[in-house]
Amino acid sequence: MPLSAADRDYLLKSIRNVPDFPKPGIQFKDITTLVGDPKAFGLTILHFAERYADEKIDFVVGAESRGFIVGAPLAIALGVGFVPIRKPGKLPFTTVSEKYALEYGFDEVQMHIDAFCGKQNARVLFVDDLIATGGTAAASIDLIQKVGAKCVEACFVVNLFALGGAEKIKKLTNFYTILDVDGD
Ligand code: AMP
Repeated sequence: MPLSAADRDYLLKSIRNVPDFPKPGIQFKDITTLVGDPKAFGLTILHFAERYADEKIDFVVGAESRGFIVGAPLAIALGVGFVPIRKPGKLPFTTVSEKYALEYGFDEVQMHIDAFCGKQNARVLFVDDLIATGGTAAASIDLIQKVGAKCVEACFVVNLFALGGAEKIKKLTNFYTILDVDGD
C-alpha cells in the first residue's frame, strides 16, 4: 500500500529514540515500539510487500537480528523463502563469509552456501531495519553475489542519512528506505 504523509509521520513517531545506547553519543532508533504496534508493523510490511509484488523476488534476505523481524513476515507476504545472514559461528552448515570495517576493527557476516537452493541468478531482496554507515548491508550484498544470486534492491525502514550508507549501497544495487532521519 502507498504510504501517505500521515502514515510516514505515524511510523516515525512509533520509533523510540534511546540516547547513549549502546554507547555514549549514539542515538539508538528502537524499532521494538514500531513492531509492537500492529498498525505501524502492518503499514511497514504491507508497504514493502506492495513495492516488491511484481519484482519476481525469489528470496528475502535479512541481517541479524532486526532484519529477521522485518524480513520474515515480508517473505511470507511475498510468498517466497527467507534467508538469514548471521554473525560468525551461528549458522550450522557450510557458510560463505564477508568481513567489513567498523570505526574501530572489523566485523563479519555469514550465510549458508546453499541458501538459495542452487537456484542460479536468484532474485534477492535484502532488508534491514536501519542503515547507518552501510557496512552491514554492503557486506551482505557481497555475500548474496558471492553465491551467484542477484540483489535486486536493498530496503530499510530507516536511513540515518547523515552517515552516508545510502550512497555506498547505490554503487552496489538499488536502494530504498521508508524513512529518512537525520540521527537526532
Ligand atoms: P551499519 O552497518 O553502520 O549500516 O549499521 C547498520 C546495523 O546496525 C543495522 O543492523 C542496525 O540495526 C544497527 N544500527 C546502527 N546504528 C543504529 C542506530 N543508531 N539505531 C539503531 N540501530 C542501529
